[in-house]
Amino acid sequence: MDLDATVDILRQLVAFETVSSRPNAQLVDWAAERLRSCGARVLVQHGDEPGKANLFATLGPDDRAGLMLSGHSDVVPVEGQAWSSDPFRLEQRGGRLYGRGAADMKGFIACVLEAAPRLARMRLRTPLHVALSYDEETDMGGMHRLAAHLASAPVRPAGCVIGEPTSMRLVAANKGSACYRVEVRGHSAHSSLRDQGVSAVETAAEIVAFANALQRRLRAGARHDGFEFPFTSVHVGRIEGGTAHNIIARDCAFLLEIRALPGTRSTDVLDEIRAYCDAALLPAMRAIAPECAIAFERVVDTPPLDDRGNAALARAVAPLCGDHGPGCVSFGTEAGILQEIGVPTVVCGPGDIRVAHRPDEYVETTQLDACGRFLAALAPRLEQGDLPLAG
Ligand SMILES: [Zn+2]
Repeated sequence: MDLDATVDILRQLVAFETVSSRPNAQLVDWAAERLRSCGARVLVQHGDEPGKANLFATLGPDDRAGLMLSGHSDVVPVEGQAWSSDPFRLEQRGGRLYGRGAADMKGFIACVLEAAPRLARMRLRTPLHVALSYDEETDMGGMHRLAAHLASAPVRPAGCVIGEPTSMRLVAANKGSACYRVEVRGHSAHSSLRDQGVSAVETAAEIVAFANALQRRLRAGARHDGFEFPFTSVHVGRIEGGTAHNIIARDCAFLLEIRALPGTRSTDVLDEIRAYCDAALLPAMRAIAPECAIAFERVVDTPPLDDRGNAALARAVAPLCGDHGPGCVSFGTEAGILQEIGVPTVVCGPGDIRVAHRPDEYVETTQLDACGRFLAALAPRLEQGDLPLAG
């Protein structure tokens, strides 16, 4: 690969301020033009929100399943972070390239776009797909939409590598990532009239305590030693409610987070909490005031990536990226969404997740080189069409 060309592409990608709250379509159109000019067939899939788009491009034959290389085009905000340089102007200091998204995950996208013209000139037996998504950093709505499209396409990819920053280590499993907003509606009254009101704050506290007890039980259940915390986790990260010390609170809401182990689902945990609310809390609340309610609103729910569903792909990719055993990461990725539609997926990309989302995010040029070597090793296998992706 040509490192200068890759850095130049990365510079242009970083300059698109694709923070998730902003449009990403300009970046997608720019990438689409590059890919079309080297002969790719490109689909730009627009989101519901104006200015949001996914990209799905194909090099090689389109009558058979290919390998998809996928990256999210959005980045996290920079507000409140002390950067040493403009986060949207790539700056090289030593062997590091600084900029928002340099690691997470425009570095990977730059490597793929740099390699695309060479891959386009080859006679690929296994097609190569390039996918770019939006809103990965919020609710993964872009990949949910792209996956729905791929699920109904005549041919869907036979496998996918998502280039999240893993320092080019091969990752075959990650936990799910779900957040639900729980809203408790009680019944307000003067606090001296204890029996005439239903405290939403106290009810929320009971649910939080139940979730905490549930966590203790989960520690005795399914376990996966690839993760630092080897169990499904349930956690309440924020709570707000009530008005004053002498008013029985009408409203209280909290954010419930569930990180489900591969092979389990966030809804298993959620259903237990719901059942507890229905059986143990709501009847007594409604006996005092019928409008009392407990509502669960999904903020985000991304399924886990299960390493029992991508073993062949992991074995095929490992020697190409120079890693030996597939590992696990505890951050959520889009991989589980693709696995759910039957596309085996692994995660491997340049850069270190520990600098992602932080001020002075960077990717090392040696990491871009390593990703370039991975793509160079992949190319002849796609040309020969002998990459065993399924099974
Ligand atoms: Zn990312």
